[in-house]
Amino acid sequence: MNVQTSTAVAPPQVSEDHLVNPWESAQRQFDEAVRHLSLPPGLADMLRETKRELIVKFPVVMDDGSIKMFTGYRVHHNAVRGPTKGGIRYDVNVNLDEIRALAMWMTWKCSLMNIPFGGAKGGVACDPRKLSMRELEKLTRRYATEISVLMSPQGDIPAPDLGTNPQIMAWIMDTYSMHVGYSVPAVVTGKPTLVGGSAGRREGTGRGVTYIVEETLRHLNMVPEETTVVIQGFGNVGSVTARTLHELGCRIIGVSDIRGGIYNPHGLDPMDLMRHHNEAGSVIHYPGADTITNEELLQLPCDVLIPAALENQITEENADRLRCKIVAEAANGPTTPDADVILAERGIFVVPDILCNAGGVTVSYFEWVQDLQSFFWTEAEINERLRRIMIDAFKQVLYESERRGVSMRTAAQIIAISRVAEATMTRGIYP
Ligand code: NAD
Repeated sequence: MNVQTSTAVAPPQVSEDHLVNPWESAQRQFDEAVRHLSLPPGLADMLRETKRELIVKFPVVMDDGSIKMFTGYRVHHNAVRGPTKGGIRYDVNVNLDEIRALAMWMTWKCSLMNIPFGGAKGGVACDPRKLSMRELEKLTRRYATEISVLMSPQGDIPAPDLGTNPQIMAWIMDTYSMHVGYSVPAVVTGKPTLVGGSAGRREGTGRGVTYIVEETLRHLNMVPEETTVVIQGFGNVGSVTARTLHELGCRIIGVSDIRGGIYNPHGLDPMDLMRHHNEAGSVIHYPGADTITNEELLQLPCDVLIPAALENQITEENADRLRCKIVAEAANGPTTPDADVILAERGIFVVPDILCNAGGVTVSYFEWVQDLQSFFWTEAEINERLRRIMIDAFKQVLYESERRGVSMRTAAQIIAISRVAEATMTRGIYP
């Protein structure tokens, strides 16, 4: 076995996309919403911070026999309304502030959808595409073991996020189960259905985005058949959103992934594009479409722009160059607070992440309930319940936004924060 030198285990490079600190963005959004509320003194200070933060540094034996160190995180933002819930991200840019922001957004998302969870998030700084399956499994099992002090079906329930998938959730479920000595499917959601996953979970986030876009179009007197859509990111969320919006009648004219984008103003067939993506490992070089950069993709003329990749994609640098009517945030934190101001001035209708992409955690909630009861629902039941919850939440946020004359984001946060604040005061501050 050869032990790598410190240069070989240097922390991953942080890309320029991450220059806007997501945690500062999350706290700025929170401050903006709290301005409209009269919270008891000191309560905002509590809700503005995380509850607990775990940083783990752990080794993995790589396929070549070397030992490589990795850094992982699990952050709980708030657990007042129930066990904490939040995905696990594998990405080179994962860092504590990003995970804090994502954990806070999970608290507001669960509260907004009125599902009985608090907010958490986790992640490992790594490039999953550069790991073999064996390395990925070892990294996952070791990370799951390291954070198992926080994880349990009653305490904290992870799920997939950027760079993770149902197989990784199955390894987490198996690792936890091996430690306690019996199978515990409810410890993690987003698993394959074979091991306690829910019908419709893999599609839940993208399908939820489509329900929300459909409702937004109705509100703005637009019809799907005359609506063009551009989507950044063609992973779990982006690809399912493309397919379900296409089924609704929308025309998908641009799509991208980490390697670049493609554009065809006459429309792309998401199912055929998925076949190409599976074979080629990317959307680029799809026959019959022009190749464009991610930056160009964001500036394409379209009705609905759907960021479905990373934070900080719509910034003060490019917000005035967007040529869409609607931004539907399938990703978490894709729009910076400064860009939000520009989009509002330009009259672009922004559906905020905590509403738009909440289908994932909603079906995760269904999965958790089914696992606890060992009683499973049909996909039709899942989709119908999901649709009802998403549309109700959209209507509440729209009502609050119009009533108070605030953005959809601030309205969504006002509803979410009020519920958590009220629950906190009802429980009382311990001891
Ligand atoms: P994924 O890993 O399945 O896919 C990510 C996609 O983004 C890939 O196509 C990747 O190539 C692309 N991408 C990565 N970096 C990029 C870059 N710099 N420029 C352009 N494209 C880039 O991840 P996912 O699960 O689809 O998650 C995407 C977003 O949706 C994340 O912000 C995540 O937090 C959010 N989200 C996911 C879920 C879920 O259930 N998976 C739920 C709610 C929100």
